[in-house]
Amino acid sequence: MADVKSDIEIARAAKKQPILEIGAKLGIPPEALLPYGHDKAKITAGFIAAQKGKPDGRLILVTAINPTPAGEGKTTTTVGLGDGLNRIGRKAITCIREASLGPCFGVKGGAAGGGYAQVVPMEDMNLHFTGDFHAITSAHNLLAALIDNHIYWGNEQNIDTRRIAWRRVMDMNDRALRQIVCSLGGVANGYPREAGFDITVASEVMAILCLSMDLRDLERRLGNIIIGYRRDKSPVFARDIKADGAMTVLLKDAMQPNLVQTLENNPAFVHGGPFANIAHGCNSVIATTTALKLADYVVTEAGFGADLGAEKFFDIKCRKAGLKPDAAVIVATVRAMKMNGGVKKDDLGREDVEAVRKGCANLGRHVQNVKKFGVPVVVAINHFTSDTEAEIRAVQAYVETLGAEAILCRHWALGSAGIEELARKVVELAESGHSQFSPLYPDEMPLFEKIETIAKDIYHADAVIADKTVRAQLHMWEQQGYGRLPVCMAKTQYSFSTDPNLRGAPTGHTVPVREVRLSAGAGFVVVVTGEIMTMPGLPKVPSSERIFLNEEGHIEGLF
Ligand code: ADP
Ligand code: MG
Repeated sequence: MADVKSDIEIARAAKKQPILEIGAKLGIPPEALLPYGHDKAKITAGFIAAQKGKPDGRLILVTAINPTPAGEGKTTTTVGLGDGLNRIGRKAITCIREASLGPCFGVKGGAAGGGYAQVVPMEDMNLHFTGDFHAITSAHNLLAALIDNHIYWGNEQNIDTRRIAWRRVMDMNDRALRQIVCSLGGVANGYPREAGFDITVASEVMAILCLSMDLRDLERRLGNIIIGYRRDKSPVFARDIKADGAMTVLLKDAMQPNLVQTLENNPAFVHGGPFANIAHGCNSVIATTTALKLADYVVTEAGFGADLGAEKFFDIKCRKAGLKPDAAVIVATVRAMKMNGGVKKDDLGREDVEAVRKGCANLGRHVQNVKKFGVPVVVAINHFTSDTEAEIRAVQAYVETLGAEAILCRHWALGSAGIEELARKVVELAESGHSQFSPLYPDEMPLFEKIETIAKDIYHADAVIADKTVRAQLHMWEQQGYGRLPVCMAKTQYSFSTDPNLRGAPTGHTVPVREVRLSAGAGFVVVVTGEIMTMPGLPKVPSSERIFLNEEGHIEGLF
C-alpha cells in the first residue's frame, strides 16, 4: 500500500486558487473579504449584514452512527458531499468546525477531512488558523482576570469566593492545570482559592460565539454569563462587573466566518468549534446562516454520533437560529457495523457478513431517531478498501427494510467523482419538500421532562435517575426564568446508553444525571451523565513526537 498518500501529502499537492477567486464564486466582492495570506479570508460583518432578507439555500446535516475506534469519516463525507453537489451543478458550501490544538498534539486525527475530500490549507486549519481560538482564549481569560480583580479591590458585588463559576482556559491538553490553587504568594496577589483550567473548546465563550447571530447578540450573551454566586445564592453576571464590552472587542474579528477551499477549489466555511459534550458541537450559526444566503446547498456536520450531535444540532442550533434542515446524511462504515456486531479492531480485515448484519441495529436506530425530527434521511456508506461486496450489500439490504437508502461513497479515494450518487439523492430528498422539521420538545416543557424526552425517544432508556439536589436545582432555574432553555446532554459518544461499552442498540437502560450546569450566556442547561473531561491529558506517546519541519520547511507528521 505504498501508493496510499497521507492526508497531509494530498493536501500539500493541492492546486489552490487565490482566496479572492473562491470568494468571487460566491459573489463576495474583494472588499468584503479580509485575506489572511493567500488562501484564507474572513468575511466582513458589513457584507454579512447586507445579506439579510435574501432567500436561503437548502441545509444538509451530516451526522453518524456511534463512533467506534474504526473511524467513521463525518468530516471527510461532509467535505466530499459539498464537492459532489458542486460537481452535479449545485452551488454548495461546506461548513465545518475549526480545530483545537489539544487533539492535534495528542491523539492522531485532523479536523479538515481526509483523503481526496479535504479542506485546505489543512496545516493552518489544524494549527493557529486565523487566530479565532486565541481570541476566544483571551476573551475568556479577560473575564477570569476581571473577576479576581473585582474581588481584590473590595468585591462590591459580594461574590462568594467559594462559589466562583468561571475557570480559565487554554487551547492545549494539559492535565497539570485541571485543578490548581491561584493567588498564592501574599496580600498583593489576591485571595488564594481553588481554581482550574479547561481546554478552550470547552469555554462558554466558544459556545456563545457559535450561537450568536451578530455582534450585538454576542455582547448580550457574554453579559449573561454567570460568573459566580453570592452568599444568598443569587447569580452574579459578567455584565455586573462590566466585562461584556471589552470581551466583545476581543472577539470582533473572531466572529467573522473564515473562507477556505476544498481540494477541488469549492468554498468552505470553517468557523467555531465547541465541544460536543458540555456544548453543542457544531460550527457557528453565523457561518451557517451566511452560507445559506450565498449558496443553493449548505452541507454541515455535527460532532459525535446522531444521538448527541444531530439531537443538539436540531434542538439547540436549529431551534435557536431558526434553521430548517432539508435532509440528513448518516455516515456509516462496514467496519463500524462489524465492531458494533462484536468484531475486534484487529480482526476487521476479515469478511464477516453476519457481524455486519448484527451491528446494523445501531445504524437503524439512528435512522429512525433522525426521522423523529421530520427530516428525510439517507445513509452514506463511507467506503474503506477492506469492505467486501457482500458486506456492503448487507448494510444496503438492512437500510432498505427501514424505508431508506444506503449509498456507497468513495469520496475519500476519488473525491467528488466518488460521491455523485449520494449528491443526487440528497438533492432529490431536499427538493422533494418532504422535510417537516421540528425540534423534539417544545420550549415550554419543564427542564426535567426535556431530559426524559431525549432519554426515552433518542436513547431508548427506561428512565432518568436524578437525586433531589439535581431536581431542586432545575426547579430553581425554572423559577429564575431559565425554564425555556434547551438541554445540552453530556453523555458518552460511544453508546446510546451512558455505558461506553454498550454498543449496538441497547434498551432497558437508565440515564443517571450526575450534575446540571447552567450556561446562561450560551442559553442551555448542561446535563452531565458521566465522567466528562473538560481538560484532556496527553497520551504516553503524544503525536507531537512525530511532528517536525522538514528541510524544505514543510510540516511533517501532522496526520
Ligand atoms: P470524523 O469527522 O467522523 O471524526 P474524519 O472525517 O475526520 O472523521 O476522518 C477521520 C480519519 O479517517 C481521517 O484521517 C481520514 O483520512 C480517515 N478516513 C475517512 N474516511 C476514510 C476512508 N474511506 N478510508 C480510509 N480512511 C478514511
Ligand atoms: Mg469531524
